[in-house]
Amino acid sequence: MKKWIIGLLAVCMLTGCGSQREKIIKSCTGKIDTTPVPTETPEVQKEEIHDFDPLHNQVVTFGEYTIEVPADWQKNDNGVWCGMRDGENWIAAVTMFKEIEDGETGEEFLKEDPFIFENLFDDSPHTIEWENTGTVNDILIRRARITSGEEENEGTFYIQAFLTGDSSQIAYIILFEPADTPYDYSEDIQDIMESLKMDTATAEQSRLEQQRMQDIRNRLDNAEVVFETDQLEYADKTLDPLKMISCSDPDITITAQTKINLRKIDKQTVIYVLELEGEQREITQTYEVADTKEPVIKLKKKNITLDYGTDYDPASNIESVSDPVDGDLTFVESEDEAKICTYYIEGSYDPKRAGSYEFSVHAMDANTNVSTKKFTIQVEPEPYAEPTYTYIANKNTRKFHYPDCRSVSRMKNSNKWEVTTTRQWMIDNGYTPCGNCHP
Ligand SMILES: [Zn+2]
Repeated sequence: MKKWIIGLLAVCMLTGCGSQREKIIKSCTGKIDTTPVPTETPEVQKEEIHDFDPLHNQVVTFGEYTIEVPADWQKNDNGVWCGMRDGENWIAAVTMFKEIEDGETGEEFLKEDPFIFENLFDDSPHTIEWENTGTVNDILIRRARITSGEEENEGTFYIQAFLTGDSSQIAYIILFEPADTPYDYSEDIQDIMESLKMDTATAEQSRLEQQRMQDIRNRLDNAEVVFETDQLEYADKTLDPLKMISCSDPDITITAQTKINLRKIDKQTVIYVLELEGEQREITQTYEVADTKEPVIKLKKKNITLDYGTDYDPASNIESVSDPVDGDLTFVESEDEAKICTYYIEGSYDPKRAGSYEFSVHAMDANTNVSTKKFTIQVEPEPYAEPTYTYIANKNTRKFHYPDCRSVSRMKNSNKWEVTTTRQWMIDNGYTPCGNCHP
């Protein structure tokens, strides 16, 4: 809704001709609220709008300033004031406020103010004259006179604008003088202008508030913030970033939106918000998560001794292979199968060959940290084997001989016992070597 003032005036004019008057309140958002007002005789309404009455005038506050507007103007909930006249002269007046955006506070304000000239008069034929009407304290005042040529709205808009000293708000008073029923309202404007004054209490309050905000700002800016470290260890969990920061000012609350994911080997940036009484300061801290812990290999024995010829699985010497974060690693047969989260054993031995054999266990965690642990297998020499012979023993005399001994040929067959065994075995079993053949 653009030409809303013109729309407002159109409604005023149309309804003003009939016996029914309407009170029209127009908001900045373009919404029209029309509420019937009881009929009154037009003659009764013919009072001058610029009959200022300090006892009854409405006080409009903007920034640290106030102005007074005629008491019979209406105010709606949106802070827009409307004044209108019945009878021969129709006058509409509005005060409204606009928050100032960047770049609007210069000398050009009102002169080229799109809020007025584009939004309210964009398509309508009109001419603009404007003047700088001066400065009161730190408030800049401009006035524009806009002649509208549109048929049903022919007349002149008078716009009085005040740019407040704290540069946050422009206040406007807009009045309309229909072309066919000219009405000199300059006295009204003069009265309103003269009513402009600084609200010293508000100004002081504003100054104190600004000082307070500045103090808060300074405390926030000067607060010393210390981070425990920016290097973090890989772990299977998240870390509350608030545990890493401390602040010299105990009244400052600190929040952080994100947690630190210690599972992620990466640089992670945390935005901290320091807050003190509504003011905020942001601090960015980048943490680097690194896995500096190798897998841990635990062996049952550092050295293993095997009897000659013993079969043994070197993998059975592994107690455990695990990473502090990744957990147990998986055994693979060889280096060819090795990848992250696995371990393998390098080395081999021959159980039929005495000697010392070296084995290496190689482990790799999820982040390619590796560790190695060695152990040895000692294969014992082949034990001495006593030679065996074939003997002929005499079961009667309990002597034993080599088979070619002369005594054997003289031995009764019933006493002969042929046995193949070691010499010691014969002795251990109660036999005596022959004194001739010396077995
Ligand atoms: Zn013999």
